[in-house]
Amino acid sequence: MAPDPYAARCTAALEDALAAVPFYRRWRERDPGPARPLAERMAAMPVLSRMDLRAHVPHGFVRSGLSTHDGFATGEIEIVTTSGTTADRAAVVWHQPWWDRSLREAARVHPALEAVYGGPHREAVLTSPMCTGNLCHVGELPMAERTLGNLLFLNQELDPARWDAASVRRMADELGAFRPDVIEADPAYLAVLGRACLGSGTPLHQPACISLTYEFPSRLHVREIRRAFPGVPVVSSYGSTETGYVFTECEAGLLHQNTASCHVELQPVRAGRESGRLGRILVTTLGNPWFGLLRFDVGDLARLHAGAPCRCGRTDGLTVESIEGRVRDLTFDTRGVAVTVRQLDDAMATADGLLGYRIEQSGPRRYLARYVAEDGAGRTLGEALPPLLRGVYGADAEVAVRREPALAPEQSGKFRLALTTFAWDVEELFE
Ligand SMILES: [Zn+2]
Repeated sequence: MAPDPYAARCTAALEDALAAVPFYRRWRERDPGPARPLAERMAAMPVLSRMDLRAHVPHGFVRSGLSTHDGFATGEIEIVTTSGTTADRAAVVWHQPWWDRSLREAARVHPALEAVYGGPHREAVLTSPMCTGNLCHVGELPMAERTLGNLLFLNQELDPARWDAASVRRMADELGAFRPDVIEADPAYLAVLGRACLGSGTPLHQPACISLTYEFPSRLHVREIRRAFPGVPVVSSYGSTETGYVFTECEAGLLHQNTASCHVELQPVRAGRESGRLGRILVTTLGNPWFGLLRFDVGDLARLHAGAPCRCGRTDGLTVESIEGRVRDLTFDTRGVAVTVRQLDDAMATADGLLGYRIEQSGPRRYLARYVAEDGAGRTLGEALPPLLRGVYGADAEVAVRREPALAPEQSGKFRLALTTFAWDVEELFE
């Protein structure tokens, strides 16, 4: 049988890191050796955390024989840090050519993305100013200073609830003038912009496609985006500053792994604590000469696709049914079974007039639903949400509701849809 080139690249990534990257030296003794199957060797390794990166980037992660000093001097690499809570903060050795390749390869999964990223294109980015690596601009800057080659960074506010009519108008005007082929957006931010433009009759440039990334795409937000951009393909793209682009939605609606630049393991949630094929996403990066991750815990969950191969015909790497949200945004039903953001969101999306929500669980059976309602829908929602949430968490769930004028993002610029106010043991949840 011909050797599988993908398996060979994964094995090389593992062996290379153990042999030549200072940080992974301490992992060597765990390796059962080249006679054992790759999956077994990978599973024998620890999980790499953001804390490890913060403590050891750059020197621990640059292989012996490469000079960090020269890399910085020639501009081949830089250090990128993202802000946020301590648990979210990342420090990575950034090598732009690898990132660009990862983006290009991931885009090949969806024809609309491939048409744009396969050649020269203009792209507008709409997210928290804290989410774009070193390009953090908060406050008024002229459009020219937010334009970097083919990229336009639209937003200057930490919280889209603070956009006034003039900010909305400015972003719509800039989109009209820049005419991007693609808008890469945090869904929560693009939903607010789309809704504001529809409400005020402000024309919005329609790009060839929209790529949703940066955070979990709530169905509520996707619905608003589709209204504001009718007929424009809206594609989910999953990745992180550390890992590059990992999963991309195909035209049939499932998500496929980007086997060109990463290997993915889904570490299963323990039996009895979840609702089927749910796992934590662990990423091993491939082909980055400067910065290699082994089994990096991105902090998110995915649900493996079961049954027949995807209708699009792709069979490379893992196919997942859905990205399920962050591990730390899990809540639990009254029997202690984990409820993902996706499961919660599927239920919340059925409530009429709901614009935003955050569920806070304060005990095994106690839940508070904070919600933002469309004009006139507040009271109906107040009555509809408790039974809806008892459907998710159990008939014995105690649900309180509180209407809010708006819900603010976290320090990182991301919106949290669910949380527990008590601590629980993350590691204990996984096999
Ligand atoms: Zn597919």
